[in-house]
Amino acid sequence: MKVKDNIRYISTRGHEEEVNSAQAIIRGLAPDGGLYVPAVLPEMSFKLTSMGGVAYRDIAYKVIHSFFTDFSLEDLHKCTDGAYDEKFDTPLIAPVTHTSEAEFLELYHGRTAAFKDMALSILPYLLINSLRKERVDKNVAILTATSGDTGKAALEGFADVTGTDIIVFYPKKGISEIQRRQMVTQRGANTHVYGILGNFDDAQKGVKEIFADAEFAKALAARGYLLSSANSINIGRLVPQIAYYVAAYIRLVEAGRIGNGDKINLVVPTGNFGNILAGWYAAQIGLPVNKLICASNENNVLTDFINTGVYDTNRKFVITSSPSMDILVSSNLERLLWHLSGGNSQEITGYMKLLKKNGKYRLKPDTRAAMNEMFYGGYATGRSVNAAITKLWNEERYLIDTHTAVGYKVYLNYKKQTGDDTVTVIASTASAYKFADKIAACLGLPKEEDSFAYFNAIKKKTGVPIPEGLRRLAQKPILHDLSVKPGDMIKAVDYVLK
Ligand SMILES: *Cc1c(COP(=O)(O)O)cnc(C)c1O
Repeated sequence: MKVKDNIRYISTRGHEEEVNSAQAIIRGLAPDGGLYVPAVLPEMSFKLTSMGGVAYRDIAYKVIHSFFTDFSLEDLHKCTDGAYDEKFDTPLIAPVTHTSEAEFLELYHGRTAAFKDMALSILPYLLINSLRKERVDKNVAILTATSGDTGKAALEGFADVTGTDIIVFYPKKGISEIQRRQMVTQRGANTHVYGILGNFDDAQKGVKEIFADAEFAKALAARGYLLSSANSINIGRLVPQIAYYVAAYIRLVEAGRIGNGDKINLVVPTGNFGNILAGWYAAQIGLPVNKLICASNENNVLTDFINTGVYDTNRKFVITSSPSMDILVSSNLERLLWHLSGGNSQEITGYMKLLKKNGKYRLKPDTRAAMNEMFYGGYATGRSVNAAITKLWNEERYLIDTHTAVGYKVYLNYKKQTGDDTVTVIASTASAYKFADKIAACLGLPKEEDSFAYFNAIKKKTGVPIPEGLRRLAQKPILHDLSVKPGDMIKAVDYVLK
C-alpha cells in the first residue's frame, strides 16, 4: 500500500480552493465556514502485520504521515517525538485494559487526564511547523470553545509557546469543579480564560461567528494576528486521534486477543463527534472495523439521528454527569456527511442552512443508508451510567469515569440487542478523578464538602493513582476569573489581542 503522495484539503461547503494540510491546520476553519476534509482518503502507508512492538509515537508518525503528506519526514518525527514522551504517565501512552466484556482504550494518561491530550500535545508542534513551512510570520491566536476538557488540554499544550496566544471559552454552568479549576489556575503569559454565561453550543457558535467575521480578521491581521482553532474543527486535532485506534488494534494483536485481520467494534462516548470520526477515518484507511458505536448521554441528538435520519436540536439542553458530552450541535458530523454523500458540498450546505434556520434537517436516503452501514447509535441515562460504574468496580475492580461509562452502558445494551460478540474497544476518555464527586457516590463513599476532598478517599478505596496534574490543584492560585456573555466573545478576543 502506498501513500497517495499529495493529499489535499477542501472545505465541506464547496469553497473552491484546495490547500495542503499545513494551510488547513493554520486556518482551522475554511473561509466559507465549512470544515477541511481530505479530498481523497489515503490508505495506510504501512502493513498492520509489521507493527508488533512498535512504540506509540512511531505508530502516530505513520498514521499522521498518511494524511499530512506535505510535512517532511524529519519535521513530522520531531512532532511525534516531542508530543508522545514523558508527559504521559505510561510509556505505552494509550494502554488497552482487558475486562470480561470489553477492551478499554485508556486515552487519559496525558497531563490533563482526558483524551484531549492525545491530540493537543501534538497540535502546537504541527501548528508551529506549519507556520514555518508556509512562511507565515504572524502571531497565531487560538480560539477554543470547550465543553470542559479541550480547554485545559489546549492551554497546557500552548502555554508559553512563542508566537501563540490561546483563548479559551468555557461554559460556567455544567463543567465539573475540577475541570474549571484546571483552567482558571493555568499559568503562562499567553493564556486567556473566560467563563461564558451559556452552554457549550453557545461557546462553539460564538467561536465560529468570530471566524466568519472577515472585517475582524482584517483588523487582527493589521495588528499582526491570525486566528486558528484548537477545537476538533481543526483537522490538526482530528488526524492524530486516528493513531490511537490503530495502536489499540496493534496491542490487541500483540496480546493475542484478536488475530491480524479480525474486525473489531469501536465504542465512543460522543459529544462533538470528533473522536468517533477519527475511528471512522481509521476504518477508511484500512483498519478492520465492524461497527462504530456512537454513545450519547441524555443529550441524545445523535442517537435519534442515527436511528431516524433526522437531526433535531429542538429539545432541552440537559446538564448531565458527563458534561464534556453535553452538546447538541456536533460539528464534526458535517465531515462525515460530506464523505458519505460522495463529497456533495451542495447537499451539506443545504443541511447546515436548515440546521441554522430550523434547528433540524433530514438526511437524504442514500446518505442515511451509508451512515447506517457502519454506525449504531444509543444513549444512557445518568442513573444507568452510575450503576455501570458501580458494577464494573464491584465485579472487576476496574474504575471508569462517567463519560466512559456512557460508552460502556451503551455497549452492554448493544450487545444484548444484537448478540454481536465481536471483540470491542471502548474509548476511555477521562480519568475518574476528573469527576471525583460523581465517582465517589458510585463507590459508596461518604459525602465531602468539596470535590478535592474525594481524591484521597477514592485513592484509598481503589488504589488507582491520582493523576499528577490533579494532585495539587486545590492549592494552586486562581489566575483567571473573567466571564463574558456569548454575544461579547468577540469583544474579549479584541481586548486580548490589542
Ligand atoms: C471531549 C470529550 C468527549 C467527547 O468527544 P468528542 O470528540 O467531542 O465527541 C467525551 N468524553 C470526554 C471525557 C471528553 O473530554
